[in-house]
Amino acid sequence: MSHVFPRNSNKLPPVGKVGAGVHLFDADGKAYFDGSGGAAVSCLGHGDQDVIDAIKSQLDSMAFAHTGFLSSDPAEALADLLVLHAPEGLEHVYFVSGGSEAVEAALKLARQYFVEIGQPQRSKIIARRQSYHGNTLGALAVGGNEWRRAQFAPLLIDVSHISPCYEYREKHDGETTFDFGQRMANELEDEILRLGADQVMAFIAEPVVGATMGAVPSVEGYFKRIREICDKYGVLLILDEVMCGMGRTGTLFAADQEDISPDICTIAKGLGAGYQPIGAMLCSGKIYHAIKDGSGFFQHGHTYVGHPTACAAGLAVVQKLTGGLVDQVASKGQQLTDMLNDAFGQNPLVGDIRGRGLFIGMEFVADRDTKAVLDPSHKFNARLKAAAFDAGLICYPMGGTIDGKHGDHVLLAPPFISEPHHFEEVVDKLGAAVAKVS
Ligand code: PLP
Repeated sequence: MSHVFPRNSNKLPPVGKVGAGVHLFDADGKAYFDGSGGAAVSCLGHGDQDVIDAIKSQLDSMAFAHTGFLSSDPAEALADLLVLHAPEGLEHVYFVSGGSEAVEAALKLARQYFVEIGQPQRSKIIARRQSYHGNTLGALAVGGNEWRRAQFAPLLIDVSHISPCYEYREKHDGETTFDFGQRMANELEDEILRLGADQVMAFIAEPVVGATMGAVPSVEGYFKRIREICDKYGVLLILDEVMCGMGRTGTLFAADQEDISPDICTIAKGLGAGYQPIGAMLCSGKIYHAIKDGSGFFQHGHTYVGHPTACAAGLAVVQKLTGGLVDQVASKGQQLTDMLNDAFGQNPLVGDIRGRGLFIGMEFVADRDTKAVLDPSHKFNARLKAAAFDAGLICYPMGGTIDGKHGDHVLLAPPFISEPHHFEEVVDKLGAAVAKVS
């Protein structure tokens, strides 16, 4: 009997033994194509020797030092590199161990900023429905995924939610795409005014929604309008790039494609590419200096903040990403999207194929014309996950209806090192799995 507390005690996973390139192998030698990079983590694939060597070398020199006493070379170098490539104005980097921690740090920093500048009444946060920002209590509170929140609701901070920018389901007939985006963004202004313009501290959103909706980008102009509204009311804009950042959508930061800078940005997953657990929160000079020139102390911190070995891994990963790999993501993403459209474009179960870069979602429906969702009791996504796994494909199906608004989807986020013949393997195996559960 295993003493590991598994995610799902009804279905214990096999033991993984080897990771090599785009594949993982279990103890029986069965190969799995890592078609979602776990959960959009393994951007470099498995067994990258440069990252492994960087980790080994850091372990040899100094595995760990508590940041209450010492910084480290890899933390300094990684912060410099991230700031060099970050959206304009993001100047300071706070390293943590993962995505939820990055979001927690972002929420607390936003709150402390307003306390430091003499606006302590600003404590309200606005987020979007059908979003996911992590599983710790603060991050879970801002997320809009009812399934994940339901049983913890009494413990969660009070957050209000507006609609996501979800063109496939929310755009009205006859409305232009631009007008739709403005209408969705204007919900933020309405909500700020409803709550009281001087009460709201932050708006948090994923530039491309991942886990909850399966790679849904916003439409052109949406985030520009969001930025305008935040500026008008002095509300901080937090972009959560934990899943969609680090090159996944074709630029190192997803915000680059929106042509805006957030006040705070969270990253994780692809930052360590699975080689070490690491996340980060980047913030503007304005926020940093409010703390520095105020109390001088960010009331936060975990033991493993700025872990040197994790930062060494992150540094090696970001050097690879910015050394040419991210530049390949948009065209590779287009190749995979084209192949998915060829294979599934006429499939009566497939309502929408969307995404950005190598962050691609496919939404399943009962009826393509009415966009009726699949019956949640059929648990399509769970059956698809199992069928794909049997076929040797790791992908990320999620769903079930949320607010009656969207149904089941599958998220694909293969490693950036994937080549066209790898995409054929993904499409073939996914095709077999979809056929099996149809
Ligand atoms: N934010 C987003 C957008 C995510 O997709 C996730 C995880 O899927 C998180 C935060 C939480 O990250 P972690 O699972 O590393 O805590």
